[in-house]
Amino acid sequence: MIGEILLTTLALSVIIAVRYLMIAGLAYWLFWGGDGRRRRSRGLNRQPPRRETVRHEVIASLIATPIYALPAAAALVGWKHGYTKLYADPAAYGWWWLPVSAVIYLLAHDAFYYWLHRGLHDRRVFAWAHRGHHLSRDPSPFASFSFDPAEALATAWFLPALTLFIPLQLGVALALLMLMTLTAVMNHAGREVWPEAWLKHPVGRQLITATHHDRHHKYFNENYGLYFRVWDRVCGTDRE
Ligand SMILES: [Zn+2]
Ligand SMILES: [Zn+2]
Repeated sequence: MIGEILLTTLALSVIIAVRYLMIAGLAYWLFWGGDGRRRRSRGLNRQPPRRETVRHEVIASLIATPIYALPAAAALVGWKHGYTKLYADPAAYGWWWLPVSAVIYLLAHDAFYYWLHRGLHDRRVFAWAHRGHHLSRDPSPFASFSFDPAEALATAWFLPALTLFIPLQLGVALALLMLMTLTAVMNHAGREVWPEAWLKHPVGRQLITATHHDRHHKYFNENYGLYFRVWDRVCGTDRE
C-alpha cells in the first residue's frame, strides 16, 4: 500500500502543479499581463508584482506541491481500500448531503485555518513557517499556493483527515478543490474583481475577498481568515 500511495502522490503532484500553473498563470495574464492594469478591476497593490516575487512564489508553490499531494494520495488510496468516508455514488447518503457536506468542509477548514494562521504569526514560529508566504507584500496570483514547507506540513493533512470521519462524495471533493484554488488565486490577485456593491452587500461582507486578504499581506496582524470573516469578527481581527 505504501508503494501505491507514493505512486499516487507522484501523479497528484503533477496534477496539482499543472492546475496551479494554469489557473494562476491565466489570472496573472488577465490581471497583470499586457494592458491588464487597465482592465475592469480595482488595483490593490501599490505596484505590479515584482519579477523576483513571482519567481519566489512559483518555486515555493512547487516545493509545497508534493507535501499537499501526499496526504491527499493517502486519502484516495485509503478510499480504494475502504478506510475513508469518501464515496462515489451521489445518492448514497441522499442528495441533500452533497451541499451540506460541502458547507461543513468549508466551515471546518475555515476554522482550522484561522487558528493555525494566528499561531503561524507567533514570533517563535513566523520566521521558519510563514515568512515565505509574506514575502509577497504585493502578491500575484502565484502567491495562492506559496507556503513554506512547515506551513504546508501543518495544513495539508487536515482535509484528507476529515475524510476519515465525514462522508464526502468524490465529485463534491473535486468541486471543493476547484473552489479553493479559485478563491485562493482571486484573493492573491493584487486586484479586486468583485464590484463595490457586492463587497458592501450583507452576504458579500461575510466572505473573504482580495480586498480583505490583501490587507493581511500588507499589515500582517489582521484579517487571518480563509473563506469567511466570522472568526476575524468574533476575535476582533477584522479590518476593512
Ligand atoms: Zn495570503
Ligand atoms: Zn499570514
